Amino acid sequence: MAQNIIIEQATELKQKPDENKLGFGQYYTDHMFILEYTEGKGWHSGRVIPYQNISLDPAAKVFHYGQTVFEGMKAYRTDDGIKLFRPKKNFERLNKSNARLSIPHIDEELAYEGLMELLNVDRDWVPAAEGTSLYIRPFIIATEPALGVNPSLNYMFMIIMSPVGAYYEEGVNPVKIHVESHFVRAVAGGVGEAKTAGNYAAGLNAQEEAKERGYSQVLWLDGVHRKYIEEVGSMNVFFKLNGKVITPMLNGSILDGITRNSVITLLKHWGVPVEERRISIDELIEAHHSGNLEEAFGTGTAAVISPIGELSYHNEKFVINEGKTGELSAKIYDTITGIQKGKVEDPFGWLVALN
Ligand SMILES: *Cc1c(COP(=O)(O)O)cnc(C)c1O
Repeated sequence: MAQNIIIEQATELKQKPDENKLGFGQYYTDHMFILEYTEGKGWHSGRVIPYQNISLDPAAKVFHYGQTVFEGMKAYRTDDGIKLFRPKKNFERLNKSNARLSIPHIDEELAYEGLMELLNVDRDWVPAAEGTSLYIRPFIIATEPALGVNPSLNYMFMIIMSPVGAYYEEGVNPVKIHVESHFVRAVAGGVGEAKTAGNYAAGLNAQEEAKERGYSQVLWLDGVHRKYIEEVGSMNVFFKLNGKVITPMLNGSILDGITRNSVITLLKHWGVPVEERRISIDELIEAHHSGNLEEAFGTGTAAVISPIGELSYHNEKFVINEGKTGELSAKIYDTITGIQKGKVEDPFGWLVALN
C-alpha cells in the first residue's frame, strides 16, 4: 500500500519574504508535492520537488471542461512546534469533490503523507509573526489531452504552500455585505457542494459589482426561490437570532465547511442552541425589524470568523449589532484561533503535530 515518496531538494532556496507584509497567496515555498494518476495504473510517482512551472498539453481537459478540485488548509507555528487544524477532514472532502467531478478517488493516507513530507522539507516557511500561517493548497487537475466530453484518463494532484499574513491587520473587523438577488452561485444537484473551480469563476461578476458599490462580498441566495440563504462569498454563514444560532443546513448547494463544523461543535459544547435549517432573507429582515438579529458572521479557513456589520438588500440597509463584532462571534474567533496557536485547550483533539 504505502508508496515511497521521493524527495528532490531544491539546490537554491528563495529569500523568505517579510513576515509583516505577506498578504494572501503572494509567495510560494521552495518545494511542491506532486502525484500522478494514469488510467490502469492508479495514483503513482509521489514526489516532493523544487517549486516549478508545470508543462501541459493545451488540449488538457482541465482547460476546457473544468475537471478540477481543490482544498484549503493551514499550518501554524506554535510554542510546541508546527501544527495543522483537522487536516484529515480536508482530504476526506477532497474525495467527496472528486466523486462529484468524476475524478478518481485518491488514497487519503498517501495524500496526507505527501503533505507531511512537503511540510517537513519546507518547515522553515511556516511564519511565526502574530496572525500569520502557512496556507496549504492541494488540488487536482485533469491532464489528458483530448477534447471529447468525458472524464479524463490522467490527472495530477499537487500541493503548493504560501505563507500568509494576518487576515485582520487591526483586529477582527465587521464587513458590509450585499445580498445578491440576481446572480446565483450554485443550485442543489449542481456542483455547489464540491470545492471546484467553476463555482468561483461563476461568482466573480457579482463580487465585482458588490465591490463597486462599496460592499466587500455578496450573500448568496438559493438558485430556485432566490429566497433562502446559502453562503457569504466563499464562506459558510451563521446568524444569532434571539439567543439561538442558525446556519443553513447542508442542502447540496453549499460547501460542508470544516470551520462551519468546528463552530457548530463548539457552540454545542458551550450549550448555545444551534440549528441547521433553511433560513430565508425575509425571516432575517423580520428578525432585524423586531430587534432579534443579534449577530451575523461568515466562517472559513482563511478568516476563521468574518463578522457581518451591515447587509444591503434591494437598496435597503440593515446594520447589525451597530456594525460591531458581536460577543459570541468574538468568543468563537478567540477560541478557534487560540486552539490553532496552542494557546487554548483543545478538547476535541483538532490539532495535529508535524513530527
Ligand atoms: C472552502 C469554502 C468554505 C469554507 O470551508 P472551510 O473548510 O471552513 O475552509 C465555504 N464555502 C465555500 C464555497 C468554500 O469554497
